[in-house]
Amino acid sequence: MAFSVQLGEPLFNLVFWLDELQVAGVSLARVVGVGLVPPDRTAGTAAPTDDHVEVRDVRYAYREGRDVLHGIDLDLRVGERLAVVGPSGAGKSTLGRMLAGIHPPTGGSVTVGSVPLVELPVDDLRQRVALVTQEHHVFVGTLAQNLRLADTSASDERLAEALDAVDALGWARALPDGLETGVGSGGHVLTPAQAQQVALARLVLLDPHTLVLDEATSLLDPRAARHLEGSLDAVLTGRTVIAIAHRLHTAHDADRVAVVDAGRITEIGPHDDLVAAGGEYARLWESWQQE
Ligand code: ADP
Repeated sequence: MAFSVQLGEPLFNLVFWLDELQVAGVSLARVVGVGLVPPDRTAGTAAPTDDHVEVRDVRYAYREGRDVLHGIDLDLRVGERLAVVGPSGAGKSTLGRMLAGIHPPTGGSVTVGSVPLVELPVDDLRQRVALVTQEHHVFVGTLAQNLRLADTSASDERLAEALDAVDALGWARALPDGLETGVGSGGHVLTPAQAQQVALARLVLLDPHTLVLDEATSLLDPRAARHLEGSLDAVLTGRTVIAIAHRLHTAHDADRVAVVDAGRITEIGPHDDLVAAGGEYARLWESWQQE
């Protein structure tokens, strides 16, 4: 599916201010994941057979005995765009974190190619599923170092390719010391759009097949979104994308929409089908139209 201009302002044209791929969050997943793996087992011995992400009877409790997800089943088709909608507090972000392996579920499983995410070595996990939020951070260091957060062994050539893929190579080369220019606090100041492109280039380097986009606290600037559309497009193409929409007015360009309510998926299907069904999504959709 193309994320093209003719779609108007569809869900995925919104720029999620892509951040540093939740490096910290994934580390947490590793720590937690290791804690859950029985000591007589080695995590990461099984290799996923494909890119198919499956959610089976997933439950999650932040506090013992207080489930906020009550048995989620979800089959993601490889390459599909799924929008997750529903009232605030329904569990959308929590589900997103499960899908990205940030938190292991307290019940059920999330697997990729039949292997539970929690059993994947962290480097492997990061190359398969990434959680992307709208925050973007430029760290103190060179531009090259900022990019290598995603792949420490990436050659200069690969860094250039990644920048080129998101249409950022021109300005990057024009920096006083090119990719070796110091950026971040005290360094060369990148514009917000440039910082976003750096975050996108990191995603290109990481090359996960599945992206979970959470626009929870996004402060969207539609003009910036349009400007960066091509960059975002380059990153999303060919990947499975789950977009968690907290205050989206347009979900109809996704292949499917899942409605999460009180920790359960209550409806799932293409936009048109759900509208025709006249259920919760139809009501949500109608109320969005009136806003
Ligand atoms: P949504 O993304 O749909 O707004 P969330 O997944 O953020 O919903 O939240 C689902 C439920 O989990 C809510 O009741 C929320 O209060 C609770 N919750 C979310 N994050 C935490 C947390 N870090 N600790 C405890 N409870 C949380």
